[in-house]
Amino acid sequence: MNELNFKQELTAAFGQPIAENPTQVMIEAAYQHHNLDWRYLTVEVGPDDLEAAVKGAKVMGFQGFNCTIPHKVNVIQYLDGLGESASLMGAVNCVVRRNGQWIGENTDGKGFVSSLREITDPKDKKVVIFGAGGAARAISVEVALAGASAISIINRSNERGQELTDLLNDKLPVSANFVPWSSTFSIPESTDIVINATSIGLFPDIDARLDFDLDSLKSSMVVADVIPNPPATNLVRDARNKGCKVIDGLAMLVSQGVIGVKHWTGVDPDPSVMRTALEKVFG
Ligand code: NDP
Repeated sequence: MNELNFKQELTAAFGQPIAENPTQVMIEAAYQHHNLDWRYLTVEVGPDDLEAAVKGAKVMGFQGFNCTIPHKVNVIQYLDGLGESASLMGAVNCVVRRNGQWIGENTDGKGFVSSLREITDPKDKKVVIFGAGGAARAISVEVALAGASAISIINRSNERGQELTDLLNDKLPVSANFVPWSSTFSIPESTDIVINATSIGLFPDIDARLDFDLDSLKSSMVVADVIPNPPATNLVRDARNKGCKVIDGLAMLVSQGVIGVKHWTGVDPDPSVMRTALEKVFG
């Protein structure tokens, strides 16, 4: 009879099923499709337990993890190093074990640029970004690293808008300007790419609209929205009606998931499998 060795094992026992997490569904669809015998688990960790959770993930042999708000900045102090863009942004959403060390990456902006590249190369492009929060920061840094010539940050709060604009001008080879969003914004005619990186339009506020002059949106502009739920936001619909090329929030979510899976497993997953899994979650 074989003897089971429990000496060095802890068996995880989650007492209750954790709500279906879209990222989990998407990543596990990729694992299954590529016959990867891996799991992607959703675990809730309170701010006071973050250090213990990061140490625990290491000793339990995790190959990495994603982290979301409110951990994106605080997690950095518990890591062994940072990738270039995570270091510039000061935020991490993806941690990868490399040679036994926890390295923090930021795949939000990289995912965005990867989906943008399917439509247009950001090099030498003029970009308008609504928002100055975490998503806007990640996207603007990556778009600047990809060679955009100019970025306008349009934001409601002056402090955040100016801070992001200063970061871009100080640390990246791009010319950035801040426009306080205190009245209806008119998109300059020379703009190539328009990005919503605010939370406007996110479920349940699906009727919300960005306050800009729709007449200033031209069919030559590429329009992107970070909102994954619902993917067909008012901005996405308006832009499609205008004849613009459009990237929705699901594309960005899939692309950052693709990069995460590649970081952890070394496998380049099929994005269409991941998108299909996400579309099922979001109906
Ligand atoms: P933050 O809270 O850091 O930033 C929110 C931004 O939205 C701020 O610039 C805020 O302006 C602005 N904003 C919110 N409400 C309004 C409003 N009513 N009028 C004007 N401006 C407003 O959030 P994140 O940047 O982390 O996330 C933003 C969105 O991006 C979320 O909806 C999230 O779902 C999405 N996201 C999507 C990803 C994807 O893969 N598709 C990845 C990451 C995020 P102010 O500074 O004035 O408060």
